[in-house]
Amino acid sequence: MRRLLTLENLTLLSIVGGVLAGVFFPVLGERIKIVGDIFLALLKMIIVPLVFTSVFVATLGLGNLRKFGDMGVKTAIYYLSTTGLSVLSGLLLVSLLDPGKGSEIKLPESGPEVKKLTFEDLVWSIVPTNPIKSFTEGHVLQIIFFSVLFGLATLTVKGNKLDQIRDLFEGLNEALINLTRWVVKLTPLGVFALVCYVVSSVGLGVLKSLWEYALTVVLGLLIHALVTLPLIAFFFGGYNPYAYLRSIREAPLLAFSTASSAATLPVSMQVAQEKGGVRRETAGFVLPLGATINMDGTALYESVAVVFIANLYGIELSLPQMLVVFLTATLASVGAAAIPGAGLVMLTLVLSSVGVPLEGIGVIVAVDRFLDMLRTAVNVWGDLNGAKIIDRFVN
Ligand code: ASP
Repeated sequence: MRRLLTLENLTLLSIVGGVLAGVFFPVLGERIKIVGDIFLALLKMIIVPLVFTSVFVATLGLGNLRKFGDMGVKTAIYYLSTTGLSVLSGLLLVSLLDPGKGSEIKLPESGPEVKKLTFEDLVWSIVPTNPIKSFTEGHVLQIIFFSVLFGLATLTVKGNKLDQIRDLFEGLNEALINLTRWVVKLTPLGVFALVCYVVSSVGLGVLKSLWEYALTVVLGLLIHALVTLPLIAFFFGGYNPYAYLRSIREAPLLAFSTASSAATLPVSMQVAQEKGGVRRETAGFVLPLGATINMDGTALYESVAVVFIANLYGIELSLPQMLVVFLTATLASVGAAAIPGAGLVMLTLVLSSVGVPLEGIGVIVAVDRFLDMLRTAVNVWGDLNGAKIIDRFVN
């Protein structure tokens, strides 16, 4: 019995319980919202110090610029190729199933406000002017950038000072992982409250009219998570991907419940090292970066959503336009923040790149939260798979 009552199984039970409670006792959702919010706050509280110490310690562990570059290049290759593959699956599937063709769904008159993203925005989202501001505002990419440079500079410090700094930060990093372990104990309770609130406030009824679209996204996500990524793991990582997924499943389950890769990051770091056997140097660098820029699930969803909305408007996308969708969906997933609903905002970028009316977003927004939960779980699984594979290729 005790073996069955693991944290992972309890989390899964809480998700199911949360859905049922949200459907049958919707008043409960609002009442226990605070429990979910406190749980989320506890996770978010750990993100900034954990990213800083992990990336810093990982950079010190790599020991020199060459090794760091090696890890960086391998991480980029894995992230870009898996994201590309996920967009490709999305495009193939959506072309095959053609959801929304000839549909009678009523199209909204006005769309969301669009903020154009520029190259400068991209630069300033990475390079900080004041690291303390990056810390207080939680800009993960800026924190990573600063921590890597600070780590590389620290490696040039002479004498035993370097060892003292290393000991101090390794200790702090360990303490933060322990803190994560405590918060993780609350997962079943937090997850129940979060899921119950979402289901009770959105309602499962919205899935009815948009089932074709939702089904296409879900199928695509399942194919990517259970076929494509495992094949890559098997051939390049040389391990059993399903056994690995089983051992680290707490992280994707939490990602599903919170719809936030960032909030899941402390748990991803903990399970990767303690249950998945990924070394600290690798997890400390690959996972924070992955949570921010590697979003396979989001990329796939963007590609399906844009073709679905085009179908609603009776717009046939040409092959070159599909190529533009391929590129912009990949870019949009890199640029999406690791928080709930970020993918929906980035969809404006993909839609406008091929001239599909942005108003279409008004249609899919109703089911977005549910799809967000699933795509975030796939995003986090993609990061964890990457950490395990890259760990094999760096020494
Ligand atoms: N919620 C997703 C994440 O945190 C991003 C998205 O909205 O697609 O990974």
